[in-house]
Amino acid sequence: MTLHIPRRLLDDIAAHASETYPEECCGFLVGSTGDDCTVQRVIRAKNVAPEPRTTRYTIDPLDIIVAEKKASTGGKVILGYYHSHPDHPCVPSEFDRSHAWPSYSYFIMRVFLGEPADFRSWRLTEEGVRFIQEDVQVE
Ligand SMILES: [Zn+2]
Repeated sequence: MTLHIPRRLLDDIAAHASETYPEECCGFLVGSTGDDCTVQRVIRAKNVAPEPRTTRYTIDPLDIIVAEKKASTGGKVILGYYHSHPDHPCVPSEFDRSHAWPSYSYFIMRVFLGEPADFRSWRLTEEGVRFIQEDVQVE
């Protein structure tokens, strides 16, 4: 699978990640499914994890309901989730793995000293045992 994302949406995620630094940001990747997934919209969510929110995120359940509604109204689906890793590599943590579901993309943006750095996207195996990196195509 390849995740396609327009440059301006990547910039939105990067901006969100900088704004919440040194806490993690989180949000939704919305788009259409097919042979490849194309992100057509990103929706910000609130990180409601208990403090410190520097190493984990929890999306407010109300945000999930709202995002699903916004996506389905436009005939789209939630393709996955994004979050940031402040001063940590863009590799999923054990917390990320244990809170993930198969069939979604998990996009991680690394922020280094407040500046967006690199990014990677991951998918959980069907058994939920581990993450596999997926290709990201910036358009
Ligand atoms: Zn994480």
